[in-house]
Amino acid sequence: MCWKDCWTFKLEKAEGKETGMNYYILTLFPDMVLQGLNTSIIGRAMEKGILSIEAVNIRDYSRDKHKHVDDAPYGGGAGMVMQPGPVCDSYEDLCHRLGKRPRVLYMTPQGKVFNQTIAEELAKEKDLVFLCGHYEGIDERALELIVTDYLSIGDYVLTGGELPAMVMIDCISRLVPGVLNNDVSAEIESFHDNLLEYPQYTRPEVYEGKKVPEVLLSGHHKNIEIWRRQQSIRRTLERRPDLLKEASLSPGEEAYLKELTKE
Ligand code: SAM
Repeated sequence: MCWKDCWTFKLEKAEGKETGMNYYILTLFPDMVLQGLNTSIIGRAMEKGILSIEAVNIRDYSRDKHKHVDDAPYGGGAGMVMQPGPVCDSYEDLCHRLGKRPRVLYMTPQGKVFNQTIAEELAKEKDLVFLCGHYEGIDERALELIVTDYLSIGDYVLTGGELPAMVMIDCISRLVPGVLNNDVSAEIESFHDNLLEYPQYTRPEVYEGKKVPEVLLSGHHKNIEIWRRQQSIRRTLERRPDLLKEASLSPGEEAYLKELTKE
């Protein structure tokens, strides 16, 4: 199979293996998403058969002889709108093949802003469909018919839903068992417990005159754990104090936070 065949339509899952998560991306630009996702940790997880990613080209469902998928908006205005037929048909065909109707996440700046909590919830699914809009977006009737969740990656407008879909797939995949070599690392990262992660250090011990904090060289696991929690609290207070309202802190940590706030 040539490279083009591989990524234009489907990144095949490893033969005979049960995947932890199957993603289906409805898009006008399948190459873009598959090329972007076929590297590093996500690429390796696909090779191992833990994830599968299929990009469905919405244009293949155009009934127009020129393969048009968009038209001018009723009522006038700038830009073009993606027509409902090819979008709905691409989803219905997928459902027919799968024998089920997975959740459809529409990538839109009008959606709920994606975060780690939403990622954790979505990671429990077995199949997820990402619907990527382009131009001025998608005809509202298609959205009413098939979309289950409206999700945004932030309060700014991009040209298409492909990058948001890639961002979300990357984030959700890290939470699928087996994708990261060390499952613990996803559990103690930023946003877990509504705290940012503590600072990290590796070799050399001294760099440009800056030394690694002594406690990390001590080998004393309990002290290292306490130091890291305190650093997390300090960093969250400095950089994202809004998160602390929801953070779960022990009474000792609450007292530490109070001290820091006084400082
Ligand atoms: N006219 C639309 C509006 O004002 O809400 C914006 C359309 S945008 C130019 C084209 C497509 O990009 C959207 O249909 C959506 O799929 C995607 N998109 C743009 N910004 C996004 C964001 N912040 N989060 C998720 N998807 C986004």
